[in-house]
Amino acid sequence: MSGGSRGRIGPGRPLVSDAVRSDRTTELVARDLRHVWHPFTAHSAWPDDEPLVVDRAAGMHFWDTDGNRYLDGVSSLWLTVHGHGVPEIDEAVRAQLGRLDHATFLGLTHEPGIELAERLLATAPAGLTRVFYAGDGSSAVEAAIKMAFQASAQRPGGGPARPYYLHVAEGYHGDTLGAVSVGGIELFHATYRPLLLETRMVSSPGVRTAGQTPAARAAEVLSEMRALLEAEGEQVCAVVIEPLVQAAGGMLTHDRSFVSGVRQLCDEFGALMVVDEVATGLGRTGRMWAVDHCGVTPDLMTCGKGLTGGYLPLSAVLAREEVYDAFLGAPSEARTFFHGHSYTANPLCCAAALANLALMEQRCTVAHAARVGDRLGELLQSVEEYDGVREIRRIGTMTGIEVASVGDRTGFAVCQAARRRGVWVRPLGDVVVLMPPLAIGDEDLQTLCGVVEASIREVVQ
Ligand code: PMP
Repeated sequence: MSGGSRGRIGPGRPLVSDAVRSDRTTELVARDLRHVWHPFTAHSAWPDDEPLVVDRAAGMHFWDTDGNRYLDGVSSLWLTVHGHGVPEIDEAVRAQLGRLDHATFLGLTHEPGIELAERLLATAPAGLTRVFYAGDGSSAVEAAIKMAFQASAQRPGGGPARPYYLHVAEGYHGDTLGAVSVGGIELFHATYRPLLLETRMVSSPGVRTAGQTPAARAAEVLSEMRALLEAEGEQVCAVVIEPLVQAAGGMLTHDRSFVSGVRQLCDEFGALMVVDEVATGLGRTGRMWAVDHCGVTPDLMTCGKGLTGGYLPLSAVLAREEVYDAFLGAPSEARTFFHGHSYTANPLCCAAALANLALMEQRCTVAHAARVGDRLGELLQSVEEYDGVREIRRIGTMTGIEVASVGDRTGFAVCQAARRRGVWVRPLGDVVVLMPPLAIGDEDLQTLCGVVEASIREVVQ
């Protein structure tokens, strides 16, 4: 990788000198700095962080505009399944382009949308029977929480609508205001608090005191939840959780008994259980769905990210028939779910998702992902012993390495050090996230872990 030896360590310091950047890169970066506003990006630091301009991708790697190759260690933000440039997915999208680029799903339907609903439900926990499409993870969560409220207002037997949501500290469900309302990450969410929905928040089951077992922590948070429901359960339409891993919260993992306990509380207090599988779903935890580890069927389940194999934006809410039924009635009764987007169920996205799911089945990708997860555990064993590493948390392939802070943006500095070694990873604060494409092979996995280990040694050891 050119420029690797020229970079210096440390937050805010340049990685490569301008001399090793091509004119094309320099020009693109200058144009970017002039007009582009990036998500979750501190723009005052962005120019010094040496923006990496991605040019192309294939398999587990992408290349920048200077021809440097990087291993995609975070699946392009937790999306990529089989790698980049998968011939079968490329072909499926091309074939769909030749037939139907787009048609509205409001009042029309199409084969890719119908078939994807069938395929998706065939992988889902028994009892989920309906699919509502959305665009990104956030918009799936938004739809799910609106559905939960409306279902509470329209439930058989009547009764007043339930306007509150119960959710979990350190949770993250996206950036639209409904999704932010059920989030619990101060840094991301506190600013918007005056704008948000009525919620009640319990502590995170993933944040334990020293020596506390995950099961004991789960029981503690469940009793907190019970107390809230006993006091105000009549007002709570839904409990919203990320199952097993609070991903954006720093890959905080919790005990399965938390998920099954939430199911029991929802049943007892008549709230819907909304499980957000946007990050955990489609194989990331070593099972198709994180709830599969727990033997639980939620009332509403969101998915997104890897649904199209990491190609195109598509997400969905999977619902139980009873929830769907609450929306039935004569049009004049206005029980309809008045919600949807211009690009709902875009056929190109559906075609990519269908090809992705077919490949996952043919290649037993979820079983492979479970093995990748175990291997990650083995390869990172030595890293856990470093003084500079506080904790490694992992379920399946979802991995967070919490490093000790040695200054401003330590996690970021580790990722920059990995970048110089040809591996792309991205931190969540001081948690270095590893989330390789599910189909990654052993050699690339060894490179990923070896580079991250060397980078941690460089920055925090
Ligand atoms: N839910 C969870 C659990 C997520 O991790 C994310 C994204 N990281 C979202 C929702 C939002 O998804 P998107 O960024 O596609 O809107």
